[in-house]
Amino acid sequence: MWNDHHCRSVANRVVEMAPHMNKVLAAARREGILIIHSPSGCMETYKDTAARARAKDAPFAKAAVKFQWNYFNPDREGPLAEKLECAGCSCDLPEPCGPDKRVWTSQIAKIKIADKDAISDSGQEVYNLLTEREIDNVIVMRVHTNRCVLGRPFGIRQMAYVGKNVVLCRDLTDSYHRDSGHHFAGLDTIIGHVERYWCSTMTSSSITGKSSFVFLNNKVAATR
Ligand SMILES: [Zn+2]
Repeated sequence: MWNDHHCRSVANRVVEMAPHMNKVLAAARREGILIIHSPSGCMETYKDTAARARAKDAPFAKAAVKFQWNYFNPDREGPLAEKLECAGCSCDLPEPCGPDKRVWTSQIAKIKIADKDAISDSGQEVYNLLTEREIDNVIVMRVHTNRCVLGRPFGIRQMAYVGKNVVLCRDLTDSYHRDSGHHFAGLDTIIGHVERYWCSTMTSSSITGKSSFVFLNNKVAATR
């Protein structure tokens, strides 16, 4: 949940989703759930924080598989349409916005990071945190469903490979694909792909007891 993105619609949807996610995280924290924030590539921003230290200080735990970016796995999952794999911009514009460059520096400020949370973009560190606390059940929420959420070394594929009971919070995710005019239909397809091949999904209502999140422009939300 970076503070900015070169794709304007991506950045705007993170801004729209962040306040709801922050409320969900506050409710989860009250229940004693460990919150791990993973603004990838931005660890320098947090180097002096208690939450970053918590992740770095968790004792090393050896896993049976390597931590890495996990690409599409043809042994386990069926194909996604090419337009749902292709990123670069997910605006409803005839031509991609841009330019395609790294503009993020931190997590978006609307998501509070508490001292008792953890911050890491390392699969090994996340695994260390989970092992230290004997945590087997992992809820994944964030962006983007078809890329980081599935592929990062602490994403859904990796959590499945290390044997965790992973679940996707499907109202608090977004995809990053190029299919002008059909963004939310594509997002639903990708969520369906996750459900079919990787893990179950839930909504944030299960944590808060309140309404789940829906993007203002999402006209296909009724299918969720
Ligand atoms: Zn764009």
